[in-house]
Amino acid sequence: MKKTILTGLRPTGNLHLGHFFGAGRTWRDIQDEYDFYLEIADVQALTDNFDNPEKVRKNVYEITKDLLSIGIKPENVHFFIQSQIPEIAELTVFYSNLVTVSRLQRNPTVKTEIAQKKELFGNDGESITYGFLGYPVSQAADITCFKGECVPVGDDQLPLIEQCREIVRKFNNIYGETLKVPEPLLSNTPRIKGLDGNEKMGKSLGNAIYLVDDEETIKKKIMGALTDTNKIKKDDPANPDVCMVYYYHKLVNSEENNNIICNECKKGARGCVQCKKELITKMNEFLEPIREKRKYYDNNPNEVNKVLEEGTKLAKEKAIETMKEVKKAMKIDY
Ligand code: ATP
Ligand code: MG
Repeated sequence: MKKTILTGLRPTGNLHLGHFFGAGRTWRDIQDEYDFYLEIADVQALTDNFDNPEKVRKNVYEITKDLLSIGIKPENVHFFIQSQIPEIAELTVFYSNLVTVSRLQRNPTVKTEIAQKKELFGNDGESITYGFLGYPVSQAADITCFKGECVPVGDDQLPLIEQCREIVRKFNNIYGETLKVPEPLLSNTPRIKGLDGNEKMGKSLGNAIYLVDDEETIKKKIMGALTDTNKIKKDDPANPDVCMVYYYHKLVNSEENNNIICNECKKGARGCVQCKKELITKMNEFLEPIREKRKYYDNNPNEVNKVLEEGTKLAKEKAIETMKEVKKAMKIDY
């Protein structure tokens, strides 16, 4: 029996390098070893985009095409749209009794995100919505509705998985052993930094390199990336460890080249402009095959719709099965 994976993305923008190296590459590499459910989390995206439903709708298709372009295959992975599985919303309501408001407020990921969304939630999060504060509960329902055992994610998701594990343990304690406690799975690059040096490259942070970026955009973004601010002149020695250009070289360039880059940078034998130009070339080489595949899905939207329809149908069957067991355990199986 294959183990079950549940993981997902919020349709708030296209896939970026953070998604690919933090999670997507792992999904691609292990996809045929698991019973794999991949959620396009439109309900979760609406928690902080409730006033922009067009954006969420558009990105459901954008993100599906991006995922297909990096080699996630619908014959291995069930792509599904969260809003089309109302069982998840039902399970969220049941779970909301098993978590305290203060526990949600203390969740480190929720705290960081509230701080980043001042415009929406106010300076100290005083205008936070019930829906946003509760999204980790909904995410626990996402995972367990499909009996997810393994959740491959970037490390910003770890506190959310821990929250899910607590809810599951509490559920099993009260209602009897019904649900599986999921385990996170991290890649060896679990957090990719942004072009501005921010600890996280994020769709909502405006510091991302997207897999759909064209050559001109890549050039502009890399030319503007943060380098060692202490380096003033071309031949000043610098510290590659604080430079985002070297950081991305390590993702897309060879080890041999990176050793040369690192040594030359430290000795002051390499200017930043040259280094950025080399990165632009390597980044485009990395992105080109993804762009090619993406063109195919842009030209075949029916194929993309079919992937979502078939995956959602299968996911729905699994969710119905789980809910029968949940309701029986909770003695609401009338
Ligand atoms: P949003 O800002 O809308 O939350 P996001 O860029 O954080 O968008 P998500 O859809 O929330 O993207 O995350 C999808 C997956 O990608 C998660 O597993 C998350 O951990 C991972 N991920 C996102 N950004 C990064 C990053 N910079 N480094 C590593 N993993 C990441
Ligand atoms: Mg996120």
